[in-house]
Amino acid sequence: MRKQIVAGNWKMNNDLVETKTLITELKNAKKTSNAEVMIAPSFTNLWTAFESLKEYSVEVIAQNMHFAESGAYTGEISASMLSSIGIKTVILGHSERRAYFNETDELLAKKVDAALKNEMRTIFCFGEELSDRKSGNHETIVENQIKNALFHLDATAFKHIVLAYEPVWAIGTGETASPEQAQEMHAFIRKTLADTYGQELADSVSILYGGSVKASNAQEIFSKPDVDGGLIGGAALKADDFMAIVNAF
Ligand code: 13P
Repeated sequence: MRKQIVAGNWKMNNDLVETKTLITELKNAKKTSNAEVMIAPSFTNLWTAFESLKEYSVEVIAQNMHFAESGAYTGEISASMLSSIGIKTVILGHSERRAYFNETDELLAKKVDAALKNEMRTIFCFGEELSDRKSGNHETIVENQIKNALFHLDATAFKHIVLAYEPVWAIGTGETASPEQAQEMHAFIRKTLADTYGQELADSVSILYGGSVKASNAQEIFSKPDVDGGLIGGAALKADDFMAIVNAF
């Protein structure tokens, strides 16, 4: 059975006080599903979040990191720094990193390697833009993003990889991919994995959907056979909304 995961990507939201408040609310919320739950606060609040959730089944994860171990990279954070405060999972390749910080597939391949070297799990994000979907290139774009950043890995590395399909046109726009569009792409991604690494490996990798997931549409999206959970942005900033999505499983 693949892991079901619901991860909240807080992006550049919530200062220290807001982080503490939201975490308290999450602790008090009732969880009725078996999905793994994660939250990704900003770097400045990771330690507080980690300490506060240590005894709870909510994993605190990072939104990004640098590929180098250490050195003259002003303003950056390394995998070993994250590991040293107990962080075991990092989101890499988010479309906002690709769009605003020029992150390329080549750079992301190095970041994935750094995460693996530090025994960290990666939630690897990718997805097409609206123009790609309109021109019918969405599958080719996604296939290339995955192959360029991940297909240098050997099969055993995929134990530490979670995939997150986030069509750029659905992020923060209120426009969700239909459950059918999500399923179609997730099945394509799994086939892409199977073609290179075999069906057994492809069947073992969790593929999350992200892009305007909310309490009202989560259940239908999560009901699709190749959708193993969600990466949630806006709706992860309110405890009630987020837990309703978690409990949609
Ligand atoms: P929204 O849920 O706000 O569309 O954001 C999705 C996302 O980018 C999660 O990483």
